[in-house]
Amino acid sequence: MQLCPHCHTGKIEWRKVVYVQWKGPRTVIVDRIPAKVCDNCGEKTYDLHALENLQKLLWAVTAPPARHAPTPPAGKG
Ligand SMILES: [Zn+2]
Repeated sequence: MQLCPHCHTGKIEWRKVVYVQWKGPRTVIVDRIPAKVCDNCGEKTYDLHALENLQKLLWAVTAPPARHAPTPPAGKG
């Protein structure tokens, strides 16, 4: 069991949370990012690997100029 480093009383649990990031004029909202969430104060610590992957994904999606809807990468479902 892990205690919250923020309030030192809450328990830390892995949860899937909504991650919001602003890239210039755009707001990027990503659902279901794994994060450690305190059940007392609600302090969130995002999973670093997930964030790294997310950054790559965001850059790939936001880099090409006139694309209307980004196509999800094809792969095993
Ligand atoms: Zn806490």
